[in-house]
Amino acid sequence: MDDRTFRNAMGKFATGVTVVTTAFQGEAKGMTANAFMSVSLDPKLVVVSIGHKARMHDIVKQTGKFAVNMLTRDQEDLSRLFAGQLKEERDVAFEWVDGHPILPDAMANILCNVHSSYVAGDHTLYFGEVTDILMKEEPGDPLLFFEGKYRSIGQ
Ligand code: FAD
Ligand code: NAD
Repeated sequence: MDDRTFRNAMGKFATGVTVVTTAFQGEAKGMTANAFMSVSLDPKLVVVSIGHKARMHDIVKQTGKFAVNMLTRDQEDLSRLFAGQLKEERDVAFEWVDGHPILPDAMANILCNVHSSYVAGDHTLYFGEVTDILMKEEPGDPLLFFEGKYRSIGQ
């Protein structure tokens, strides 16, 4: 099967969009990811899947912690930025909580220590044990990704 068929099929599964962040050598680092899932209540675990070519892959391995920032529909530009799709560099205003750089206007920020990891093909699944959660009272609508395009609810 060719890659395009696989990606087209996976693109039929509508998801939210997150930016995975971590602090590396004192600086914030982020990567856009939609391969995110809630895993377990006891203990509280989530998982993100990070490609081996992504710089974030080795960085999370070293830092042992990450945050998952769930984007709102107003944050499409941040998704493009952290996917390396914008030409220009941008200064992003991170907030720092327990050593995690987080995106303050996200719907929710899920702070994690790496619980375990599992190499699966050309990605690694990083399971995170959740240490804290920050949520907006009125976050607005989520940013969605469907058929390789950004969408919002009702669109
Ligand atoms: P880099 O190329 O090092 O960084 C990515 C971009 O973020 C660069 O432009 C960099 O300038 C910017 N950046 C990083 N930190 C900062 C900072 N502190 N301030 C300002 N800018 C900063 N890949 C996966 O492995 N798993 C997924 O689940 C996944 N889902 C995706 C979902 C969507 C909707 C999209 C569009 C892409 C997805 N990708 C996913 C691809 C992934 O986002 C890109 O391949 C990404 O560029 C790889 O990141 P990197 O760690 O190599 O980062
Ligand atoms: P696309 O058509 O490539 O993506 C559709 C779906 O295919 C995604 O939602 C994801 O489920 C799957 N997918 C895409 N690339 C994958 C990969 N390398 N490994 C595993 N699953 C993958 O959409 P697009 O707008 O062309 O994506 C923009 C860029 O972001 C592409 O370079 C794409 O490879 C990358 N991306 C990577 C992942 C991932 O690594 N899990 C997920 C989404 C997008």
